[in-house]
Amino acid sequence: KPHLHLQIQISLFGDDDRLIVAKDVTRLYQLEQMRRDFVGNVSHEMRTPLTVISGYLETLVDHADELPPKWRRAINTMAAQSSRMEALITDLILLSRIETGEHTVDDTLADMDALLNQICHDAQALSGSKQHRITVNISDHRLLQGDESQLRSAFSNLVFNAVKYTPAEGEVTVSWTANRDGAHLSVKDSGIGIDPVHIPRLTERFYRADPSRHKDTGGTGLGLAIVKHVLINHDGNLEIRSKPGEGSEFICHFPRERLVERVPELRD
Ligand code: ADP
Repeated sequence: KPHLHLQIQISLFGDDDRLIVAKDVTRLYQLEQMRRDFVGNVSHEMRTPLTVISGYLETLVDHADELPPKWRRAINTMAAQSSRMEALITDLILLSRIETGEHTVDDTLADMDALLNQICHDAQALSGSKQHRITVNISDHRLLQGDESQLRSAFSNLVFNAVKYTPAEGEVTVSWTANRDGAHLSVKDSGIGIDPVHIPRLTERFYRADPSRHKDTGGTGLGLAIVKHVLINHDGNLEIRSKPGEGSEFICHFPRERLVERVPELRD
């Protein structure tokens, strides 16, 4: 028998009057689950034929100089578009997996120190000749209870976005800190910033602050939706601060209960 999903709203009036409204949202919940499964399945089915197409295109690109010039351009465009589609499908599959929330994230520990250093190292490679100044500050060396591969996806989306939306030679600062309120990952950039009207909707799938700009950044439009769901799975939340023209800061907050002391390495 399917579970019953209820949405309960409690309103207080004066000292001891309460109004309790229970709404049956089972159907809504089931529809949402069907949507997720459908998107996940379609993405999976599309991956195989696309891999074949991309494979052949790659071979053609490798032999492009043997082809007539007008074909060369067509082949290069097709190859570029098929790798965009591959990135999109990879993100759709990842998002539908993360959204189901079935897997547990509580049995494993993530080494934030190593993880963030690695991501920033990759981000420096992504920046390439744009030479962004990327710095990492780690002020707490405990481990984070969570799924390292989910966290890696979330944090690399934030750091890569910071690079993508910051002009050459700009600054990107990644900081991992902890205090009484919890543990916090801040990814701060000196980039183009975001108009405040867009901020509440940025984590929606395919929402873009500036639709005309996304084509040259090569993103899938799913990055921040992935971040949001990874944080939900880790009882965390995302805070976005930004000033257009000055830069943006994306902060992931985690409950402090998720921090775990490192066990000193055993030696023979
Ligand atoms: P995309 O693949 O388009 O980057 P995301 O979900 O990662 O998709 O981000 C959604 C939108 O949020 C982006 O299209 C961009 O408009 C805005 N955005 C994200 N990160 C930044 C940032 N660091 N600076 C400015 N804008 C950003």
